[in-house]
Amino acid sequence: MDNIFSAFTNRRRVLDALKNTHRSRVPAEPPCPSCGQSAAITALRLCSKCGHHYAISAALRLDKLLDDGGVALFEDIPSRDPLNFPAYGEKLAAAREKTGLGDAYCVREGAISGRRVIAAALEPEFMMGSMGTAVGEAVTRAIERAGALRLPLIIISASGGARMQEGMFSLMQMAKTSAALRAFSDSGGLFISILTNPTTGGVTASFASLGDVTLAEPGALIGFAGPRVIEQTIGAKLPAGFQSAQFQLAHGFVDAIVPRDQLRSALVRLLKLHPETAAAV
Ligand SMILES: [Zn+2]
Repeated sequence: MDNIFSAFTNRRRVLDALKNTHRSRVPAEPPCPSCGQSAAITALRLCSKCGHHYAISAALRLDKLLDDGGVALFEDIPSRDPLNFPAYGEKLAAAREKTGLGDAYCVREGAISGRRVIAAALEPEFMMGSMGTAVGEAVTRAIERAGALRLPLIIISASGGARMQEGMFSLMQMAKTSAALRAFSDSGGLFISILTNPTTGGVTASFASLGDVTLAEPGALIGFAGPRVIEQTIGAKLPAGFQSAQFQLAHGFVDAIVPRDQLRSALVRLLKLHPETAAAV
């Protein structure tokens, strides 16, 4: 018996030693790109030392923003490859595998501190949150559902713009989402647009810029074309900090810069300012 016990004790000792070796090999957090310190990253993906905003997935954003995370909508919109673009199918499959999403969006119906809303977020890890036909359709359906239920609409953008692989079909989503927002606005709907890093191209040039209230995360890149393309086109040097959230705030494109850990309370205040409307059934 003694032999059996000592065999177990030895085995335990070896396992503990292996575990400790493994633990010591786990790398420390890489240095924060803003403060350079190896600080912990908070649950909202902020640097615990300087508040640097790391990229955050669409699902995690909505989990943190909505009471109990809300209920997912429109998850089954198929992505299309209308141009039969080389290697697009493989890229879509890889992005789906990586993110667990059907395409670069999450739409949810839920509540913020008890106030019902429709909220959508773009997924930066899914082909840079680019807008193809599926994203355009999801955003449009989110707008239309908010309109039908007379609920406030919140869209959190993080996007490289229109999705190149779907060509003109991607560009058409700009008109489609903008037209849906016009109808929503005409019916008195409240749309709060939240611009995060990065919000560019056809997303900036359509729904992201059409908010009744436009908020931005600190340090977000917000623009249409890249600075080099603009400089080459207009033949002039661009001012420093051009396309940063702070620059856009100073020039009236953004109403307020709200750190991610204050976004929920800011939205609670904004929603309180706008009276609830009875659902149109
Ligand atoms: Zn930092």
